[in-house]
Amino acid sequence: MPEKLVIVGGVAGGASAAARARRISEDAEIVLFERGQDISFANCGLPYHIGGIIKERSNLLVASADLLRTRFRIDVRTRTEVVRIDRSAREVETKTLETGEIGSQPFTKLILSTGAEPIRPPLPGIEAPGIFTLRNLQDMDRINGCLGGMDQGRAVVVGGGFIGLEMAENLKLRGLEVTLFEMTRQVMPPLDPEMAAPLHRHLGLHGVKLRLGAPVSAFEETAGRILVRPEHGEAVAADLVVLAIGVRPEAQLAREAGLAVGERGGIVTDDRMRTSDPDIFAVGDAVEVVDLVLREPTLIPLAGPANRQGRIAADNALGRDVAYRDSQGTNICKVFDLAAGSTGASERSLKRAGRRYEKIYLSPASHAGYYPGAKPMTLKLLFDPADGKVLGAQAVGADGVDKRLDVLAVAIRAGMTVFDLENLELAYAPPYGSAKDPVNMAGFIAANVLRGDVGLVHSDEIDGCDPGSRIVLDVRTNKEHKKGAIPGAIHIPVDDLRNRLAELPRDRELLVYCAAGLRSYIACRILTQKGFRCRHLPGGYPIYRDVQGIT
Ligand code: FAD
Repeated sequence: MPEKLVIVGGVAGGASAAARARRISEDAEIVLFERGQDISFANCGLPYHIGGIIKERSNLLVASADLLRTRFRIDVRTRTEVVRIDRSAREVETKTLETGEIGSQPFTKLILSTGAEPIRPPLPGIEAPGIFTLRNLQDMDRINGCLGGMDQGRAVVVGGGFIGLEMAENLKLRGLEVTLFEMTRQVMPPLDPEMAAPLHRHLGLHGVKLRLGAPVSAFEETAGRILVRPEHGEAVAADLVVLAIGVRPEAQLAREAGLAVGERGGIVTDDRMRTSDPDIFAVGDAVEVVDLVLREPTLIPLAGPANRQGRIAADNALGRDVAYRDSQGTNICKVFDLAAGSTGASERSLKRAGRRYEKIYLSPASHAGYYPGAKPMTLKLLFDPADGKVLGAQAVGADGVDKRLDVLAVAIRAGMTVFDLENLELAYAPPYGSAKDPVNMAGFIAANVLRGDVGLVHSDEIDGCDPGSRIVLDVRTNKEHKKGAIPGAIHIPVDDLRNRLAELPRDRELLVYCAAGLRSYIACRILTQKGFRCRHLPGGYPIYRDVQGIT
């Protein structure tokens, strides 16, 4: 008997599942229900149409319902909501949204790709017109409608995650004054705070007023505008507010059908994307996944996992046996001229999980410095101090960030160590990279630590260290030292060090720093070989400054 496959949700995971299912089986009956007007649209492109970068709205429609009907012979029903799953009758109850008509559709296999809904907390005034969330084309149209011919005016974005940052940039591109309120002390939560700090400066440089540590507590309508009130500090009046404070898995349908839902609110599946009912699969933003590094359940609402899971669920629903191999949350976001992203575990998540880790930072150029246009980037690598396994990476910079993150994502996926990074042979010519690529460099630096060539001291340990037992040594140039230095540091430029060793105490440990970590490493190699005890500060003064929050 051919399978009767029903798919709920027709965007990233659902449309992938539908097309894959047809490629696997010409015989299966495939019915796809989508509550919204469109299927397979590019949610990720929505902010860029608002900003005018993606000019044509139609370009956001990746595959039309007609394409799925004609090319894939899929019965696509848009504006039709699945309102109940009757597991004993093996059917779903549907509601046609235009007419209110209730229907039913039998299934032998069911795939849920219901996504995640933007969080709208019950704050006073939140229902005021002019407060928007962004999930689909209709939300985008509403925002565009509100902006109308407005090429001035003021917008408030609430939330500094990916969507909030993208909206801040694109509203700025539309000519609005933008204030971004973020409850925590940093934007882009997957990054550790010191890696988000360059984004804070960059947003400021582009005129976005950043209000960190400022949870919004209420909205008020005043004279055609919305007054956005944070818990502390000044309220801001806006013509438009975009709420981007996160998403919540749409798991209600599954929950009501008695399917297992996890502590984080996502549908629980096994590695075949099978729910607690063996004939029902679930994928995408609606499900909990296992964190590849930390081995714990988590939510990763990103397009890559949703698309791949859709494909895998279709395979398994139609008799194949394919495993989804966990998520590592690889992400990237454009923030004006910078790109920032991460893969694997962050320092914050490793700490929370009680995992041992070591970290290094580096600030390489995007390609050979002598070839025009090289841009600096900051890279953070987290690894296991016992065996050197790469646990996570973060990068911020104007160019080449995506490439390094992707290489490091592969390294994490492949279970590589920092010693493997030393040996990666990567594409190089001066316009594209360096003979020692930043990824190789990260491997060299981390491997030097694990081989015992140099010890590390981190910023939090430097402050408050006892001067009776440790001395901070700045090996930068006079000019750099004068611009700002760690309080109490002795200053000897690295090039003078060999001639001035007599000035240094031999009974105390030297904590050496420079502007990035290279000169301090060289200094430590000199000092160690001359019998001094020393460690150096990876990432140097800029990371120290960002960890300490010095502006
Ligand atoms: P969705 O794509 O949200 O699809 C779920 C669909 O199910 C919805 O259309 C919904 O209407 C429908 N549905 C729900 N319940 C029912 C029901 N009962 N009956 C019928 N239909 C139902 N990810 C990235 O990796 N990179 C990015 O740059 C990026 N940018 C983004 C920008 C924006 C503005 C947004 C909103 C998201 C972005 N994402 C990005 C996230 C990415 O789009 C999602 O992770 C992905 O779309 C999830 O796919 P999904 O199939 O699980 O859910």
